[in-house]
Amino acid sequence: VSELRSRLERVQRALAEQAIDLLLLGPSTDLLYLTGYAVKPSERLTLLAIAPEGTPRMVTPDFELPEVEALGIELEPVPWSDGDHAAATALKALGGRGMSVAVGAQLHARFLLDLLAAGLEADLLPGDRIMAPVRAVKSPAEVEALRHASSAADAVFEDLSSTTFAGARELEVVDRIRELLASHGNDATGSGLAAFGENSAAPHHHPSGRVARDGDAVIVDYGGTVRQYRADITRMFHVGEPTGEFQQVYEIVDAANQAAFEAAAPGVPAEAIDAAARMVIEEAGFGDRFLHRTGHGIGLDVHEPPYLVRGNTDPLAAGMAFTIEPGIYLEDRFGVRIEDVVVVTEDGAERLNVSSHALRVVS
Ligand code: ZN
Ligand code: ZN
Repeated sequence: VSELRSRLERVQRALAEQAIDLLLLGPSTDLLYLTGYAVKPSERLTLLAIAPEGTPRMVTPDFELPEVEALGIELEPVPWSDGDHAAATALKALGGRGMSVAVGAQLHARFLLDLLAAGLEADLLPGDRIMAPVRAVKSPAEVEALRHASSAADAVFEDLSSTTFAGARELEVVDRIRELLASHGNDATGSGLAAFGENSAAPHHHPSGRVARDGDAVIVDYGGTVRQYRADITRMFHVGEPTGEFQQVYEIVDAANQAAFEAAAPGVPAEAIDAAARMVIEEAGFGDRFLHRTGHGIGLDVHEPPYLVRGNTDPLAAGMAFTIEPGIYLEDRFGVRIEDVVVVTEDGAERLNVSSHALRVVS
């Protein structure tokens, strides 16, 4: 509860600094972050309204009041009943004229449209102006939760290393990953990816019935959820001995991963991490085969700020957690990607995934 209180204080301070009168959040990881309330989005209006001062108000269907009260945090409920005009009830409680209102990125558009139709007259701003910088810097408790999730992902990789790939379908490997994640204490198992041979050349390949055979590169990219916090790891196997060319590409990607890791420190612009990885791959002659940004923040969402991408000059800060995942993709042949979660420390960065990058040759 004290952790939640300090999160709310940071949000209210940011609202005051930016002279924003109200922040509106729907069912989302923003709401989860601030209240611990894991309510699912639905067609009924649930809305957390936070002003720079005072107790936040929670607009909620009246029959869900017990869940809101069970959160054990200070909230002023604004209940409404089926048959009421929910947006009008919300607006009556919140005011909403001549104010500047920040709207959470994950608030469904239908609810904002309902509020506008009910008479909301305000300067609307993106809620990420408030939420993204606050959420990007993880508390020690959040880093511990991320560490647990990453450790579980590492353990799954070790288990996978001793299984046989030849003859298995991509979809079967994804099922195996889900079972292993559950057996290593994950609460939810996300959507994993397994790509064999030429399929590994597509960064977001949809797992298929493709069967692994001798000579295939294998990419696995997955992550589960431990106490709401996410993991995201990519490792590679090779079915039988790899060619010299594959090994060479693999070593370039590993060197790019290491260069990005070594560049990460407080005060460094996010885009500099991307540039560090990209330079290694460009110098090796594969610049046009690195098809995506170098990484993304991770926390309650698997993709969240900060994004490590050209153009993002925001400086990193201690406590920020993100992936480093450079790749090289050779169309119709194979792809290589190596992904870890790292957290920025006072003087550099720490990898939360500690399983070795050494290529695993499997049968
Ligand atoms: Zn991933
Ligand atoms: Zn990722």
